[in-house]
Amino acid sequence: MEHAGTQDGNLYEYAENRLKDLSAKGLYRFLRIVDGPQGAKVRLGDQEVLLLCSNNYLGLAGHPKLAEAAAAAAWEFGCSASASRLISGTMRLHERLERKLADFMDRPDVLVFSSGYAANVGCISSLVGSGDVILSDQLNHASIIDGCRLSRAEVKIYRHGDMEHLEFLLERTTGAGKRLIVTETLFSMDGDMAPLVELVKLARRYRCILMVDEAHAIGVQGPRGRGIAEMMGVEQDIDIVVGTMGKALGCFGAFVACPPVLRNYFINHARSFIFSTALPPPVLGAVEAALDIVASEPERRSHVAALAASFYKGFTRIAHAHTGCRVTPATESAVTQIQGLILGEDRIAVALSNALLTRGVYVQAIRPPSVPAGTARLRCSLTAAHTVTDIEYALWAIDEALKEVVARRELSVRAS
Ligand SMILES: *Cc1c(COP(=O)(O)O)cnc(C)c1O
Repeated sequence: MEHAGTQDGNLYEYAENRLKDLSAKGLYRFLRIVDGPQGAKVRLGDQEVLLLCSNNYLGLAGHPKLAEAAAAAAWEFGCSASASRLISGTMRLHERLERKLADFMDRPDVLVFSSGYAANVGCISSLVGSGDVILSDQLNHASIIDGCRLSRAEVKIYRHGDMEHLEFLLERTTGAGKRLIVTETLFSMDGDMAPLVELVKLARRYRCILMVDEAHAIGVQGPRGRGIAEMMGVEQDIDIVVGTMGKALGCFGAFVACPPVLRNYFINHARSFIFSTALPPPVLGAVEAALDIVASEPERRSHVAALAASFYKGFTRIAHAHTGCRVTPATESAVTQIQGLILGEDRIAVALSNALLTRGVYVQAIRPPSVPAGTARLRCSLTAAHTVTDIEYALWAIDEALKEVVARRELSVRAS
């Protein structure tokens, strides 16, 4: 491997230099090891920390009922599907879970994918191609962006949540082939919601396919946990809903809820579905158990909502006391379990995250390319595993950490 290289030098030197570039910009990332199951608190090395950045929104990831269901499925069906779905990997459990998910979502059909990433990439790239147009929200997740790129369709980005801009673009693409509007419903990094009622109207008026990604909403938002579309009363007006099972459902994998004809279409055309090993029995078993809890314990959803509302009050007060930085979502009426403090500079976000860690609170600094350049942030997420005391402690720590970072003049108090 000594001579592995590129035209202008050694590959390893190249990689080393690119990593140094990232460090110099405050963008270097590394993996932190978490010990023990995911919960309100986890161990990082020899420190117990309050976890405020996981997507375990209902606190199900470490739930004994999920572990029991996973173990039972492993004993009965083994640990692997051993093939892709179209070869011999479609087991009775896949069929059973897909029916259960369709019932849960109140939709005619569901197709399970190995991940949300695979679902977005596979669905988008199979639905549209060259000659077609995709209209995509500016803040859509990387998996949606990659699906758009892979499709070879023309991609028009509309300003985040801006329906006038979307309509402007729709007016100008009327001669195109198929048109697909795609958006997250609960935006993963800002915690705000897409205007689904308006999106449904525009999709109808301009005869577009409407696809929504409920990754952060399934299980936790909507009266029955079916997401933002349920909350806004437009479930039956959306062609394709993507949901994940690795976030609020505490497991892994994803699903697509759609009419039967589209399910058959994806089975035949979505390459990330076709060319990948089917989800294994323990995961499928655990998701079934998670769905039972989502249905039988609505108090988990109300608990997260109450924590989110009280966190937001403290978070905005503290942010405004020490900085001129913006908190997302912008208004109290639109608060969700995801809340961010937009710090701007990458270094500052890292400094604040580190200052929090010394106080026993773990919140990752979110930097580009996960968010647009210049919008590095602290992204906090509340879960049903947290208690009121946890939230009070987190707010105290954020207050102290912000004071420290401001005192070190890393963050200036400026009006925004
Ligand atoms: C996490 C996420 C995905 C990817 O889902 P995985 O199952 O983790 O691959 C897709 N879309 C959005 C909006 C996400 O936040």
